[in-house]
Amino acid sequence: MSDLKSEALKWVEKLKDEILGISEFLYENPELGSEEFKACELLTSILEKHGFKVEREFMNMKTSFKTSFKGQGDKPKIAFLAEYDALPEIGHGCGHNIIAATTVGAAIAISKVLPKMNGEVIVIGTPAEEGRGPYGGSKVIMAEKGAFKDIDVVLTMHPLSGGKAGCRHGALAVQSFKIVFKGKTAHASAAPHLGINALNAVMLMFHGIDCLRQHIRKDGRIHGIIVKGGEAANVIPDYSEAAITVRAADLKYLNELKEKVFNCAKGAALMTGAKVEIEPLMPLYREKVIYETLAEILERNLEKEGFKLVDPIEIIKIGPLASTDFGNVTQVVPAISAGIPIIEKRISLHTREFAEATISEKGKEATIKSTRVLVETAMDLYLNPELLKKVKEEYMRKVRRSGS
Ligand SMILES: [Zn+2]
Ligand SMILES: [Zn+2]
Repeated sequence: MSDLKSEALKWVEKLKDEILGISEFLYENPELGSEEFKACELLTSILEKHGFKVEREFMNMKTSFKTSFKGQGDKPKIAFLAEYDALPEIGHGCGHNIIAATTVGAAIAISKVLPKMNGEVIVIGTPAEEGRGPYGGSKVIMAEKGAFKDIDVVLTMHPLSGGKAGCRHGALAVQSFKIVFKGKTAHASAAPHLGINALNAVMLMFHGIDCLRQHIRKDGRIHGIIVKGGEAANVIPDYSEAAITVRAADLKYLNELKEKVFNCAKGAALMTGAKVEIEPLMPLYREKVIYETLAEILERNLEKEGFKLVDPIEIIKIGPLASTDFGNVTQVVPAISAGIPIIEKRISLHTREFAEATISEKGKEATIKSTRVLVETAMDLYLNPELLKKVKEEYMRKVRRSGS
């Protein structure tokens, strides 16, 4: 191992209490997406204390930040993405407290050896990953507005359960829509012939979607709820509202499915005489690009830290299941996220049990090991220009092929 790499790892040990302190503070003070003020204050003040240049309210988002630390030259630039939003009622049931602790910890450890080498380390605070509030899906906004333009590689992690680590899990492209039907009220018994039933329209749309499901690809997902379906049983409803989410493994198929769902809505409007209005509820999350070169480096470091890896065949067999705004980042810059287990037992994310696991002894151990993995992976890239070149070539190949 290079001297600089082992020196950076020694810093992880020295910073241990500070890293675990971040995770615990966020666990004790969970904040919902777009309201992560305490988290931003804590993370920026720690980074500032360690000599990072701090830009608050990055890209005009009040709970975002960008911090950087320069070495001898400013290239390569490696950025860590910190998430810190929690969930209603269950706090850090998605473990974003660990993401903040490991990414900030790794960046600080690297900054301690950076004066002896070329490069810059950056931490970007990316609020509202769970999609809540005005900064919901902040990485989509950042990717669109060029936040990653001059960055060479983006690294992050996500805690998982189940004992095995991996970084080749894909993510489905996704978008949600608000679909509103407008009809006409009437007395449901005395004059039903004068009404236009908006509830019928939304029900017919759901029936159309249920029929459609039989004829879609395996990676396609369409799911939704009726948000509003009327006010009283004796009044023909003049307003109904649904929220529908559409997912697919690639953007092209997502667009096809979207059209088909919209046609179900339009057909239902035609059948009932109601008017239909459709608007997006969130920005489009893109599918994730998996960079083999980065995955190989990361997997080597995961194994070095004693993590067992998920069988890649298994990953292909199951296919991508969920979606993330990190997908949009992978479309504009070489980027990878390490999925790291913090609990042996397989439990679901977004539960109180998972939140508790983040601050358990095993969770703390995994937090420090994950920080080490991030440090080692970044150091491999800082110290091996050839490796970085390979990563960039893969990016050019993949992004060109997908036509992004
Ligand atoms: Zn989540
Ligand atoms: Zn999450």
